[in-house]
Order: sequence, then structure tokens, then C-alpha cells
Amino acid sequence: MKDLSIYIHIPFCTEKCFYCDFLSFKGKEEYFEKYKIALIKEIEDFAILNKDKYIIKTIFIGGGTPSILPIGYIGNISEKIYKLFNVDKDIEFTIEANPGTLSYEKIKHFKASNINRISLGLQAYQNNLLKKIGRIHTIEDFLQNYENIRKVGFDNVNVDLMFSLPSQTEKDFEQTLNNITKLEPEHISTYSLILEEGTKFYSMYEKGEFELFSDEMDRKLYYMAIDILQKNGYNLYEISNFSKHNKQCRHNIVYWTRKEYIGFGLGSSSLIDEKRIVNTNNLNDYINFKNNREIEILEKKHMYSEFMFLGLRMAQGIKKVDFYNQFNIDIDSVYKKEIDKFIKNGLLIEEDGFLKLSKKGIDLSNVVFSEFI
Ligand code: SF4
Repeated sequence: MKDLSIYIHIPFCTEKCFYCDFLSFKGKEEYFEKYKIALIKEIEDFAILNKDKYIIKTIFIGGGTPSILPIGYIGNISEKIYKLFNVDKDIEFTIEANPGTLSYEKIKHFKASNINRISLGLQAYQNNLLKKIGRIHTIEDFLQNYENIRKVGFDNVNVDLMFSLPSQTEKDFEQTLNNITKLEPEHISTYSLILEEGTKFYSMYEKGEFELFSDEMDRKLYYMAIDILQKNGYNLYEISNFSKHNKQCRHNIVYWTRKEYIGFGLGSSSLIDEKRIVNTNNLNDYINFKNNREIEILEKKHMYSEFMFLGLRMAQGIKKVDFYNQFNIDIDSVYKKEIDKFIKNGLLIEEDGFLKLSKKGIDLSNVVFSEFI
């Protein structure tokens, strides 16, 4: 049996955060039930053909806001997966949750549904800032739910944070990092604001309502995060992800190392048998079982570039021999020119058979990645 990871997309949110361009809709409660039915049908259809081919190693329910669903829904989905697939005993099973949509009962329901990891979207520790970025919760909501999550017995929790937000100060971000590390979540992700077209922030920016941080300031905040988090026992294992010992997100590592995964739900993508499959992003089509998927058979050069730009996100970098093991061709015969150039100008480091980004390479990671794409 081959290892497989499952991603499940829940495309609903209470409100749209001002920076977010993820595939999610606000205020579509009347779709919840139909969506669950279509989702379960998609899971069943895949299982009929593939059930005994795979062992499920990780499951990630993301969104949108999966925790928006009423109690019972996540249990129904989990039950179906456990019934239809061979699920590894040591599974990592994550759900993303927005602190504005949780309750003690819901957290207990997650635990009873085999979930063993919760990823909480907090973003910032200041209520005024949370309001300014369109979050629906307060810091008090977060703290109450964090306490409940621990009370229910979860021992693997991630907290998502953001920096370079409009009107955020260096002090705000420092306070956020210090206060969160005191709570000792097992994992912290921290992302810089990226202005995405179609978001509320994008139109506010176009109207001149705020200015973006300079690259220097953005980098300064990033290195402050590394410094504070490392001092508090967090290991930077990917450009934006930090964890305590042995608590890296195994599901995300599947993406970065190009292992196989199947995505269920609106707009989800899968990587299976070197095919990239993307579900429809039309909600009405999806709930009416018209899931017109885009299927792309990946060309070799596409696979090589994915291997490079995904693998180089990891702090340990890529193991050169893994390239050979995956593609049966030596990495140098494909990328010698690029690798030599980046080593020479100090963006890549070669060490013990691994290639990884240097500090300068992390700052200029887009330059490095685009060369491999
Ligand atoms: S809750 Fe998450 S998915 Fe929903 S709008 Fe906010 S950031 Fe986007």
C-alpha cells in the first residue's frame, strides 16, 4: 500500500478577512448540508476505486473556516474516511479553526472525531489590529478557546500569525510573538502580508488608504520572529513555519516534498501518479455533483521545478540524491548551471549532500524559485 494524504476543503467563512483571497464564501449557511453530501459522495467515489491502494498518513481539513460547520458535520466526514480507507494508527489529523467560531462543545466534538491537531488562525494579539484586518474574533476569544483546546486534551496546536499588516508596529508584532510563545503551542506559522488582487486590502491600497511596509522593515520583522521563536525553543523548519521538537506539520511536509495527496472539496488539488488534478471552483456545480476537474499530466521539467522550489522552502533544503531517486536523473545534469550560479553568489549552500537557501537566499527566495520555474 502507498502512503497518501487527504486534504478536505470547507469553503465557508463568517466574514471575509481583508487580506484573504482563499476560495471561501461568507454567509452561505444554506449550502452547508448540500456541501457535506457532495463532499462525502466525492470521498466515496474515490474510495470505491482506490480503497486498498493506500494507507492514509495525514488528513488536513482546511478552508475557509472548517470550524464554522455545526457540530456533527466533521464527525460525519471523519467517520466516512475511517470506514472507507486504511487509516494509519499514527495519523496526523488537523483541522483549521477560527477562534470566532469555536465552543467547548465543538472542540470536544473534534476530539471525538479523531482529530489530533488544531490550527488556530489568530494573526495578531491586539484587538484593534484584529478589527482592522477584518478578523471576526478578539484576543479574549482566542485565549478562551486555547484554554478549552488544552482542557479537552489536544497536545498539538498551531497558531497562525501575520506581520507587515497595515498600522501594525514593530512593538505589536514583538508583543504578539512574546505572548504566544508563553502559551507554548507546539507549532507557530508566521506569514508576511501579501497584497492579493480582489481583496478588500487591495482596493484600500489602490485608494491610498495605507502604505505597504518596505522590504527592509518586512525582513526586520521576519528576523525578529526567528530570533524570538528560536530563543523560545522553536525550530525554523520551513521559511514560515516553526515547531517544537517532533511537531512539524507532517501534512505540509507532504506538499513540500511532493508526496502524493488527494484533495476533496471545492477547488481542491491533488497530486497523484504525477498528475495534478484540480476540482471545480464553482460552488453550485460542486453541490450538484458536477465536479469538472482539470487534469494535468505533469511533464518531467514541471516535476523537476516543483521538486526544487517546494523543497528549498524547507530549512534542511533538498537532498540531492532524492532528486535522483525520484526522477532517475542526476540533479546536476538538469540544474548544474543554476546551482553553481546561486552557490557562487551566496544564495544557496551545499552541505553534506543537501542544497539549501542561505540567509540571503531566504530574503531573495522568489528570485531563486523563479529561476527553477
Ligand atoms: S477566516 Fe481564513 S479563509 Fe476565511 S476569510 Fe479569513 S483568512 Fe480567509
